[in-house]
Amino acid sequence: MTFPTTIFSKLDTPFYYYDLDILNQTLKAIHAETDHRKNFHVHYAIKANANPGILEIIAQSGLGADCVSGGEIEAADMAGFDGQKIVYAGVGKSDKEIRIALEKGIFCFNVESLPELEVINEIAHEMGKKAHVAFRINPNVDAHTHAKITTGLNENKFGIAMEDMIPAIRKAESLDAVEYTGLHFHIGSQILDLSVYVALCDRINELQDILDKEGIQTANINVGGGLGIDYDNPDGNPIPNFKEYFELFEEHLKLREGQQLHFELGRSVVAQCGSLIARTLYVKEGHTKKFVIVDAGFTELVRPAMYGSHHFTQNLSAANDAPKDKYDVVGPICESSDVFSTDEVLPITHRGDFIAFRSAGAYGEVMASTYNCRQLPEAYFSE
Ligand SMILES: *Cc1c(COP(=O)(O)O)cnc(C)c1O
Repeated sequence: MTFPTTIFSKLDTPFYYYDLDILNQTLKAIHAETDHRKNFHVHYAIKANANPGILEIIAQSGLGADCVSGGEIEAADMAGFDGQKIVYAGVGKSDKEIRIALEKGIFCFNVESLPELEVINEIAHEMGKKAHVAFRINPNVDAHTHAKITTGLNENKFGIAMEDMIPAIRKAESLDAVEYTGLHFHIGSQILDLSVYVALCDRINELQDILDKEGIQTANINVGGGLGIDYDNPDGNPIPNFKEYFELFEEHLKLREGQQLHFELGRSVVAQCGSLIARTLYVKEGHTKKFVIVDAGFTELVRPAMYGSHHFTQNLSAANDAPKDKYDVVGPICESSDVFSTDEVLPITHRGDFIAFRSAGAYGEVMASTYNCRQLPEAYFSE
């Protein structure tokens, strides 16, 4: 990826920079794997990045939307996503959010508990509507990823246990304003070990056998999202391996006649197109360490502080062959967790140098906060 640093020098930092070429190539790669598989449907997970400009491009490409709040349903609607392609998950849907979803006529509620099912039924009944529901089932598959982003294990707040699947479906059948239309799964995020998805397919196949025996028909299977990206080498691997990912489901999942397969990809769609751009404020020489103090912090990009993740870091102002040194790259926020990386090898860095934190398009701008009375970052797009 190249950065227009001449343009950057006229801008206030920190800000997000989105390379739309990468975004469009990513979308093209997804469509290349899904357009000819007519029963495959991809819903972009809005929570990864809800920047209106990004959302519009994704909506125009024809993907659906995966929302986890009423606000996201409204953002999806504003960006032009087809309401009929919106799925809505979340353990704590409020009455108001359920009403918004019913008004927009979304494709499906991914229901995470029986009390929620009853409330959706009541509200839909009162509005004279029928809510399409899928049950989010907890498949007890370990995503082999960070503890804070593993969601498919039994002792998790998300979803309904497998043993409760049949009673939940029976309950839905007994209610007048909901219709059972599918099963939903989402086992975690930043999954690079694709055998985890094979385990998910095996588990879904088992569950489908049980449903067959009960004579229950299921129109939709939704396998959620979670496909990981290469944080270490964004320029080497700008586009995730969608081919292998989608082929895996085609190979391992035993879909029934007419069954539709849904995906909810977030990070893999938007992570590589975004970078957080900061300026170096100070280079501080400690006794044992050197610090690059930049004007961005966890208020702009919280992933390092929250998940201990590392973003590939580049000094955009230094020459390629400049001699290097080792730095801790830190932000200005008054918390010791405000550290982007330790022992980062960078070209010798000076005050004023632009620092790019790469692969920040997912769970970056959308998680920014105003802590320390800071302003939310601006976003700029490549031509
Ligand atoms: C967050 C989330 C996703 C997207 O996850 P990624 O790891 O960004 O692909 C999909 N489905 C649900 C229900 C989610 O909560």
